[in-house]
Amino acid sequence: MPSKWMNASRDERAAELERRRSRSAYLEGPHADSLRLAKAAIRDGVAKLRSGNILSALMFLNRARRAVERLPEPTVENTWHPNSHRMIEVRDWFFGKCRLGDERISLFRMAANFVIVLYDYDPPYRHMIDEAKARLDAAGWTPCGEEDLIRHDWGWWDYGYPVKAEGESCDCGGRIEISYRLRMRPKARRGRCKECGTVYTVRPWRGDANQVSQAMLSR
Ligand SMILES: [Zn+2]
Repeated sequence: MPSKWMNASRDERAAELERRRSRSAYLEGPHADSLRLAKAAIRDGVAKLRSGNILSALMFLNRARRAVERLPEPTVENTWHPNSHRMIEVRDWFFGKCRLGDERISLFRMAANFVIVLYDYDPPYRHMIDEAKARLDAAGWTPCGEEDLIRHDWGWWDYGYPVKAEGESCDCGGRIEISYRLRMRPKARRGRCKECGTVYTVRPWRGDANQVSQAMLSR
């Protein structure tokens, strides 16, 4: 707790907390109802799943899905906690980079939004996430590719490499050698300049490189 609130009375702190939390759209009203319904349906659905009652489980999980879909997407405007705002920023950055298919993107997005809303709305979940995050921060983190030994450049992630048409040279004049094909449409490949090592996304036909870059970004 910041020191300026240490000596305030409990009533004063409760009033201030209420004022801060009033910025959230999920605290009361229909969105709070949807959230409670989703949590209960997920809990019941998982319990049914564990007891082998698959049809019943599906019914509950579908109810949870419908409730989650009724929630407005969390934004800086409809949430209150500063960490929710940070997670929203990470969410937007992530989905700006991720190039998976629409099915998986929408599933991941629903899950990410649900976690952000839970964090914003629900003090116990906020506490759990805070504690786990603090523990991870203290433990440190092995960077991408270090333990795997072979660092992959995946087609489903936008690394921001410049785009060249097949047969075009590197900006240094060197030849771009194709390293491998990316699993994305339009079919593109990863290339590396033989001279300076610059990495490119290489598209298989001629035309305006920026146009293709835009087409790929929109997928
Ligand atoms: Zn080069």
